Amino acid sequence: MNYNKKTVKDIDVTGKKVLLRCDFNVPQDKTTGAITDDKRIRAALPTIQYLLDQGAAVIACSHLGKPEPSFDKWVKKQTEKGKDPASLTKEKWEKSLKALTLAPVAKRLSELLGKDVVMAADVVGPDAQAKAAALKSGEIMLLENTRFEKGETKNDPELAKAMAGMAEVYVSDAFGAVHRAHASTAGVAAYLPAVSGFLIEKELEIMGGALANPKRPLVAILGGSKVSSKIGVINNLLDIADTIIIGGGMAYTFAKAQGGSVGKSLLEADWLDYCNEMLAKAKEKGVKFLLPVDNYCAAEFSADATPVLYDAMSIPDDMMGMDIGPKTVEAYVAAVKDAGTVIWNGPMGVFEFPAFAEGTRAVAKALAATDAITIIGGGDSAAAVAQLGFADKMTHISTGGGASLEFLEGKELPGVACLLDK
Ligand code: ADP
Ligand code: MG
Repeated sequence: MNYNKKTVKDIDVTGKKVLLRCDFNVPQDKTTGAITDDKRIRAALPTIQYLLDQGAAVIACSHLGKPEPSFDKWVKKQTEKGKDPASLTKEKWEKSLKALTLAPVAKRLSELLGKDVVMAADVVGPDAQAKAAALKSGEIMLLENTRFEKGETKNDPELAKAMAGMAEVYVSDAFGAVHRAHASTAGVAAYLPAVSGFLIEKELEIMGGALANPKRPLVAILGGSKVSSKIGVINNLLDIADTIIIGGGMAYTFAKAQGGSVGKSLLEADWLDYCNEMLAKAKEKGVKFLLPVDNYCAAEFSADATPVLYDAMSIPDDMMGMDIGPKTVEAYVAAVKDAGTVIWNGPMGVFEFPAFAEGTRAVAKALAATDAITIIGGGDSAAAVAQLGFADKMTHISTGGGASLEFLEGKELPGVACLLDK
């Protein structure tokens, strides 16, 4: 995968209409619809401001949530969820779509920019077309939720063509959506010169750099809940890293695979062989592979549970592993100390419960203290680092949850592959 892509700075946008794909998939209050966190809107500002300063006319677009643009499919999905089919009216479906309008985002964006943001009533319909045609240099508009169009998630070329038809340049800055081959994230690039905005540029530079040409030693810390959701990441990083450190819920499947007793800990019995394969691969490649040697355990999965320390290979039947123990922490902190690059995905324990957040905190603290390039990927890992107060001490916290995982898996990301090479 080539991470060396042209950016907004490599292309002349002055006086041009620019279709800008943003990630405005913001969390909203379920009842009022109010935006509860505008981080993603603020993150898009540098690219938007740059384009406006260059005299571009910016046609911004994004998806929001998971609207179902087909009434029949909506009925089917709701019925599967257990809703009474008789209650599923067209009005209710329309209401479900309206709840996912991007209008509140346009309003917030306008406040942040201190200028008008013209809101279109559709994506490629007559209103969007007319407003895009009338848009002048230095002005910005926002198309309606791209997923209101059936063709969006199918990457329909007709939809992509219609979106591209309103603009002269395509800029993608929606890192959180680059792992999806949708009309607005990849399809449009077939019809327009396509470059990255500053958010994607930074992700490619730092994460791409760490994978393609890391400052060594490269230490990968992998945790989180399940081995099964991290198979691709472990496998890919075994080809690249010098050291792999395992923590979190997945450690118990590794312990069991090695003949340990893990009690009631999170266990994925189907993945025992896989764990042994990974251990064998590490040996063959000369990659240091560190597993926990001790764990704080609990009698039940609860914030009030009392942490009890056990050796990793002998957790009693009535106990479950919740966090890494002090000997493990010591070894992991030492492994990180002289690293050139550290990639971290997945918390070391159930950090949401303060009594079991110490392992994650210790690792975050160690990362904050090293001179290494430190990269955090994954939604919960980013949340953990922020919650523990170490966010500004990291080199880079990836903004894409699923996208950063696929990035670490070494997969080709359609929303990146479609951009012009440098
Ligand atoms: P990310 O989103 O960063 O990729 P994951 O989604 O894989 O991370 O995992 C995060 C979750 O893993 C957290 O909610 C955390 O509570 C959970 N977790 C960590 N350690 C354990 C454990 N020992 N038992 C159960 N869950 C765990
Ligand atoms: Mg997660």
